[in-house]
Amino acid sequence: MEMKIIDKTDEKLVLEFSNADAAEVNTFRRMVVSGVPVMAIEEVEFIKNDSALVDEIVANRLGLIPLTTPTNTYNKREDCKCDGKGCPLCQVEFSLDVKGPCVVYASQLISQDEKIKSAFDDMPITRLLDGQELTINAIAVMGEGREHMKYAPAIAFYHHKPKFIINNDEAKLSKFKNQYPEAAIKDGKFDEEALLNDKLYNACEGVCDDLLKIEYEEDKFIFYLESFGQMTASEVMSTALNKFNDKLDDFEKSMKGGKGKPLADIAKKLMNK
Ligand SMILES: [Zn+2]
Repeated sequence: MEMKIIDKTDEKLVLEFSNADAAEVNTFRRMVVSGVPVMAIEEVEFIKNDSALVDEIVANRLGLIPLTTPTNTYNKREDCKCDGKGCPLCQVEFSLDVKGPCVVYASQLISQDEKIKSAFDDMPITRLLDGQELTINAIAVMGEGREHMKYAPAIAFYHHKPKFIINNDEAKLSKFKNQYPEAAIKDGKFDEEALLNDKLYNACEGVCDDLLKIEYEEDKFIFYLESFGQMTASEVMSTALNKFNDKLDDFEKSMKGGKGKPLADIAKKLMNK
């Protein structure tokens, strides 16, 4: 399998996988969505909540705030030296103490660690009227999307790479021109780059197959990843790939009956019965 980077920004990554099949590409998608650990608020202690929202709703909203999570900074609680009790290696404390009238924003959360903070300042948590107060303490921990969607670092999706069979017949094109998006045609010809990168081909499909026929390549995929803000898109993807690699190593070891041999043990059990 080969990978080519088509577009890369902090928020977005577009990749092309070739010589791949859907099962492999879907594995990457699943690793991105559910296997990359990031920070999110998990516990909230309410000291005062005068807002119109009940404690549970405020806690839920706090949990869904994406928190910046530099890679390899914190342990997951269950893997930490503290045996899951909670310590500075696996959790970060937050506090919030606001008096109305105002809208309470994520930026007002005070973090014990400046690296772990709200990824977006202007996310509203609740609104306070004159004299109302919201005072809380909260704890954020590392988690994975498989436990709760608040720990998902990105959205990822893919499709087969389209293949364009183009016939720039001038007379025919002028007849159908109005039915194609304006940006799809440049200087009287189909613009292949715009068709693919701006996904204009979706709107062109089925207009006139004699001019532009769209087919899909079996073993080529375009993979999109959009970060929710905890990490850059590239960090999410490389963490996902490394995790997948670790899983393959574990699998190989378990097949050989080496360290951590869940499958070998199951196989042995089957034979004994
Ligand atoms: Zn710990």
